[in-house]
Amino acid sequence: MGGTEQNYVKEAFDTNWVAPLGPNVNGFEHDLETYLNQNVFIGALSSGTAAIHLGLIILGVKAGDEVICQSMTFSASANPIKYQGATPVFIDSESETWNMCPKALEAAIIDCIAKGKKPKAIIAVHLYGMPFNAATILAVANKYQIPVVEDSAEALGSKYKGQKCGTLGDIGVLSFNGNKIITTSGGGALVAKTKKIKDKAVFFATQSRDNAPHYQHSEIGYNYRMSNIVAGIGRGQMEVLDEHIALRRAMHDFYANYFKDIKGVTVLTEPNTDYFSNHWLSAILVNPEQTDGKTREDLRLALDAANIESRPLWKPMHLQPIFANDPYYGGTISESLFQNGLCLPSGSNLTREDRDRIKAALDAFFKG
Ligand SMILES: *Cc1c(COP(=O)(O)O)cnc(C)c1O
Repeated sequence: MGGTEQNYVKEAFDTNWVAPLGPNVNGFEHDLETYLNQNVFIGALSSGTAAIHLGLIILGVKAGDEVICQSMTFSASANPIKYQGATPVFIDSESETWNMCPKALEAAIIDCIAKGKKPKAIIAVHLYGMPFNAATILAVANKYQIPVVEDSAEALGSKYKGQKCGTLGDIGVLSFNGNKIITTSGGGALVAKTKKIKDKAVFFATQSRDNAPHYQHSEIGYNYRMSNIVAGIGRGQMEVLDEHIALRRAMHDFYANYFKDIKGVTVLTEPNTDYFSNHWLSAILVNPEQTDGKTREDLRLALDAANIESRPLWKPMHLQPIFANDPYYGGTISESLFQNGLCLPSGSNLTREDRDRIKAALDAFFKG
C-alpha cells in the first residue's frame, strides 16, 4: 500500500457510501481513464474475470460459439468462454513475447471458417506485462473482422508503440487482484471504446435492471460491480502505480544484468523499442543444454532451499485437464516455455538485502 488508500476508505465510511457505487467508484474510473489517456470509458468491476465475462457477453458470445484464446495464460482468461457455453480454441505462443503467435492465430481462424464456425472473439494476453505483438495480431483480427478482448490484467502501465495496454483491443480488461501491479484486494475493470459499451457493461454488472420504478428485467444480470470501499483503495493505489512500475522494471534490470554472464539463461525482455513492459513479473528460461544439465526445476528447488520463492510459468491451457478436449493450434513453444521457464521474486517491496540474498543463492547455484 502507498499510504493514502485509507483516507479514501475513511471518506467512504464517513459519508456512508458503503455500497457498490459512490464517489470512489466514479473517482477510480476517472483516474484510470486519465491514466490510459486514450478517450476510453472505464467500468469498475468486482474482478478481471468479470470484465472478460462481460466483454464476451457484449460481443455476443453464446453457447456453441468458438472463441480464440492464448493458451499460455492464467485460467481466468479462458474460463469465461466456458461460462458462456462456448468452445475455447487455444493458440500457441511466439518465442519473442511468449504471447499469442500470429501465424498459429491465422491458421486457426482459417480452419474454423472452413468448418463453418467463424470465431466470435479473440482473447489475447499481455503475459507478465509484456505486450503481445499488437500490430500483427490486430491486423489478423481486422482481416477477418473478429473483435479482440485484450486481457491486460497483468499489464497496467505497459505500452505498445507508446499506447497504453488495455486500450489496444476492442474491449480491454484490467485486474486489481492482490497479486497484480496495483491492488484493491480484489477488483477489475472493463475498458470500453464508447460510453454506450461502458454503460452496457455496468448494466449487466448491476443485475440488468430495466428502466422502471419496480424491478424489471429483460436480460440475465450479474452482480459484478466494484464496491465503493474497494474503489477507495484503488484511488490511493493510482498514486503509486508509476513508482511500482519503476520498481518492477528495476528488478527486471537486476536480473537482466545478472544473467547476461550466465550461459543458457535468458530473461524475458522487450524484443525492440515498440514494446514497454511494466515487468510485473521477471521471468527466465533455463536451457539445460547450455547449463551443464541444470534445469529450471533444479534452480527452483535450490532457491526454495534458501527460502526464496520462485514459480514455474503459467501452464498452457491446452495442457490443462479441464481443457483437454478443446482444439489447439500451433507447435510446442508454449509447452517448452512451461518446461523451462521460471518466475523470479519481482515484488515492488524487495529491499537491497533481498536482492543480495537472491544474488547469493543464484551464485551458489550457477557458480558454486
Ligand atoms: C489475474 C488475471 C486475470 C483475472 O483477474 P482477476 O481480477 O483475478 O479475476 C485474468 N487474466 C490474467 C492473465 C490474469 O493474470
